[in-house]
Amino acid sequence: MRDLPAEKFEFERDARTKGRFDDRKAAMPYALVDAVGRGSGVTRILYKYVAVLATVTIGISPAFSQPPEGRVSRQSEGSYRLPYADGTTLSVFDDADTHRPGGALDLIGEPRTGGPHRIVAAADGTIMALVDRYKEKQSGRAAELCRNNYLWLSHVNGEWTLHSHMRSGSSSAKAGLKVGDKVRAGQYLGDEGDVGCAMLSHLHFEVAVPTAEGPIDARGFLTDNVRRERMRLPRFCSVAGEYVRKDTRYTARACK
Ligand SMILES: [Zn+2]
Repeated sequence: MRDLPAEKFEFERDARTKGRFDDRKAAMPYALVDAVGRGSGVTRILYKYVAVLATVTIGISPAFSQPPEGRVSRQSEGSYRLPYADGTTLSVFDDADTHRPGGALDLIGEPRTGGPHRIVAAADGTIMALVDRYKEKQSGRAAELCRNNYLWLSHVNGEWTLHSHMRSGSSSAKAGLKVGDKVRAGQYLGDEGDVGCAMLSHLHFEVAVPTAEGPIDARGFLTDNVRRERMRLPRFCSVAGEYVRKDTRYTARACK
């Protein structure tokens, strides 16, 4: 059973959920099941009672048999470059398997004190959505209160890529970008940041195939993505084996 400390959720709640899935609610029965597994005697029975009660109260009956969100298994059509400026070393805080909800990546430019790290387009694309007016770091807020900066690009293969938490004004004023602009792979999009529900400066990155109608909601989250069905596992051109892994370092560079 996965361990899901509350602290972890603060970081993860940079994403998704409102009206679809509440990470905290989904996680609670999991944490309790964990506790049941560890306890003994009276403690074990007590934990079990609380777990059942919590599950019934919260109304997440399948929580004992299913993970909090669908595991993403479909790989991306595109083979992307790592979305940091050429030569940047980056580490993977969470990969597509460990990120909650699944399928997205949390990437960190290294050294962490060496920023601001420059975020770039992972492929040629068109800017479909750009919000960079927020300034506040909101670690610990409820998911529905997250005000993340975000930039979505669409690509000719039908996939979109998301870049989230970037610094206020770095996409519009500093990079001079606006919705409708076409960008090239490797073009500067903004600076890595911690705006919105983020615990530390990082880039939340994801690849998705959105719906044609209303692909994202007002907060920049994918619509019609209940079981993460719209997500794709990001493949990268310069990464051995194509997928990045948690706690591993990579150097960003252009695709050949
Ligand atoms: Zn994330």
